[in-house]
Amino acid sequence: MMMCSYSLNKYCNHSVTLTIKVVLIPMALKRNKMDGICKILDGGLASQLVANGYSSIDSDPLWSARLLHTNPAAIQNAHQQFLKAGADILETNTYQVSIEGFKDYLSLSGEKTLQCIQESVTKLVKPLVEECERNTGRSVSIAGSIGPYGACQHDGSEYTGNYLDSMTVQQLMDWHRPRLQALSEAGVDMFAFETIPGAKEGEALVQLLQQEFPQQKAWLSFTCKDGSHTSHGELLVDAVKSGIDCDQITHVGVNCVAPDLVESLLLSLQVYRDKKPFIVYPNSGGFWKSGKGWDADTKLSNIESFVSSCVRNGAKVIGGCCKVTHTEIEAMRIALDKLKLRGDC
Ligand SMILES: [Zn+2]
Repeated sequence: MMMCSYSLNKYCNHSVTLTIKVVLIPMALKRNKMDGICKILDGGLASQLVANGYSSIDSDPLWSARLLHTNPAAIQNAHQQFLKAGADILETNTYQVSIEGFKDYLSLSGEKTLQCIQESVTKLVKPLVEECERNTGRSVSIAGSIGPYGACQHDGSEYTGNYLDSMTVQQLMDWHRPRLQALSEAGVDMFAFETIPGAKEGEALVQLLQQEFPQQKAWLSFTCKDGSHTSHGELLVDAVKSGIDCDQITHVGVNCVAPDLVESLLLSLQVYRDKKPFIVYPNSGGFWKSGKGWDADTKLSNIESFVSSCVRNGAKVIGGCCKVTHTEIEAMRIALDKLKLRGDC
């Protein structure tokens, strides 16, 4: 509490001293729409676009991010498909947006690129969410997608994290900063720190969040090479530690991993089960080949038992990543609603 004295004799005939008590309250964190409730996240936006006929994006150095500039209506249509499928959270199409990438492949200035990021929220997702909330009463959140540094190198390094050996935490923070800034200003409900290949990049993002975005929430999700290690090689249970210790991180977990690794990965996190809910959104299996796309035409199957297993192991947000489209998200919605009816989540 701070005491301030103001003399009012400037405004009154008589000299009066007024003492005002000013209570300094720390800036409140944004209300978290996701506390304690099981939610369905959307699927892989790029994969949805490919399924909708935009197959050239798989070999594009900007991947689906190019369409932000060239065909925003196609992106909005894909968001709408996930919304209709029953997703509670929609991610922005900003995973692979970077100032360097948009300069090299679209000849856009940094300022224009940041504007593209903001419009991915304000023009593409927000109007859909607001319309849905108005018409149905459903509460839908917007997560600003923040992919790893490797995702913008167009060399598949988000699945190895090789660059983490030569970059510092500070360099990673500096690189990520403008994207967080743009998404925050556009009014996302949270950041999605996703497909993070190693502990160092997770630490950089958590530090940036704490130091420069104290009002924002985020989830922290790693990609993994087996049932217990991140793609870069640390134990997942060690890599999530930075997120576990941060109040602004709502969920920790994994994404863009093969579905058959998920149970083992979640089991490896059980020591934190009472501290933080988990988030899981696998791909449908297979491996990403730079410049080509996914190497196998696999589909996520046995969705009901998959969702049930995730919930049993502490996941509160479940969705899909690459090659998971609105069809599978709809099946996840149905599976989760069944569990809710039974009181299992
Ligand atoms: Zn993915």
